Amino acid sequence: MKALRIILSLPILAFCLACSPRPSIDFKLSWAGDKIHVDMSMNPIRHGTDTLYYGDIGYGGQRDIFGCVKDLRMNVPFSTDSANLRIILQIPDKKKVTASYDIACSLPDTGVVNTPMEMFRPNITQDFLFCHGVNLFLRYNDRVGRDLPVQVSWDEIPPFPTFCLYNQGQGFRTARAPSSAFQSTILVGDRHLHVDTVHVAGQTQFIVTAPRKLTEYNQAMTTSFFKDFYAAAVRFWEDTPEGPYSLIVYPFERIRHNVSGIGLDGGFCARYDAQADTVVTPARADVYAHEIGHNWVSAGFSSQWYGEGFNELQTAYLLVASGLRPLQGFVDYLNVGIRSLERSAIRNLPNDEIEENFWKLGDYSWLPYWRGEVYALRLLGQIEAHTGDPTAFKSLMLFLKRSGTQVNNDNWIGTLKNFIPEETAREEFQRYIIQGESIPLDRGPLPSGLDFQRQEDGTPGIVITDSTAFARHFVL
Ligand SMILES: [Zn+2]
Repeated sequence: MKALRIILSLPILAFCLACSPRPSIDFKLSWAGDKIHVDMSMNPIRHGTDTLYYGDIGYGGQRDIFGCVKDLRMNVPFSTDSANLRIILQIPDKKKVTASYDIACSLPDTGVVNTPMEMFRPNITQDFLFCHGVNLFLRYNDRVGRDLPVQVSWDEIPPFPTFCLYNQGQGFRTARAPSSAFQSTILVGDRHLHVDTVHVAGQTQFIVTAPRKLTEYNQAMTTSFFKDFYAAAVRFWEDTPEGPYSLIVYPFERIRHNVSGIGLDGGFCARYDAQADTVVTPARADVYAHEIGHNWVSAGFSSQWYGEGFNELQTAYLLVASGLRPLQGFVDYLNVGIRSLERSAIRNLPNDEIEENFWKLGDYSWLPYWRGEVYALRLLGQIEAHTGDPTAFKSLMLFLKRSGTQVNNDNWIGTLKNFIPEETAREEFQRYIIQGESIPLDRGPLPSGLDFQRQEDGTPGIVITDSTAFARHFVL
């Protein structure tokens, strides 16, 4: 009888598996004149109370972003908690969840429009589309860290050229990927949108521009800069890119801000002053290079001294190593950080107070950049003094890559002890990064060929004392 029961139970099990569909989310997008209509259906992981999220407070610290979601309807009972950017659902047994909503937002006609608003809000009009994935796709809260399969398809498409970073080179074709792939992504559209392609390391890269002036010149300059810098970065990291990478350089609609950028999955987006004649000025090229650098150097908010600071040092380094800037370019770049840090009234703010104040902007958002790059410079001098290796930056970065380390405050000493004495590493990291003490570049070794000097008026900075020795640091 026992054997018979097992045989009988098999078809019942198979039937049950067939009738509970795999958890997944399906988004269908439709252009609706000056907004995007979204139809969503979800086979949930569980039933009962569950949560969907919208937006990300890390995208400009905007607490009102939930207001961009209009006319939200669902086939299950739900309540919205806009202060915490979430929707609480009550999902009955075996119920497929369907929802529809519009993403509609353009910049306000009155009041302040600041850089975070233009960088991180949906900016959608009848002939313009700019929307981050976090501001378009509801995000499922999976408490056990599972990443749901997601499908995104289009019904009505915008009546102007549009580039979807989640589907590079594929236009509006249906995309399938884990849900996380649709968050750190962006959609841009414009009547003047232009897409160039280049090929580096066996992959296609897309350069997306929409210049308002000197169209062909700006398109060509942007593509040329990208190709040179990205190729150098790929060589430095000894990388074999697994997919395409895109550079999106897009004018601001309203504000007269020189440039701002954000690194995304498989590319980045920068925005710049629409009144500018030239898209690739040295100052903007610095930002484009920095954002490309995030493809390899990034970290969580509490470790921005690495994600931003080491990325700043990488930016200065690769601009020189690629041949796009002379040796002096590295010194000039670092000196901006060295001087800004020393002059800042909040230069000694402890690391854990940066995150809570970051979106106050000003020096609060720049502090991790300045402090991190000055700390990185000092560290490279220490590594070289201890190991005799003038290519300390490449050695350190490739060590991180090969060990698969995602840098954070807890694992940093474990990395550094492979290069300098553990006690020195621990003490200096604690003092100069965690506690925010001033970093004494005038004491302790600097990378060879460099020295620290103050000008007559007291302005601090580094200078090249031996070009031959200094040039040895820059290897790809
Ligand atoms: Zn950055």
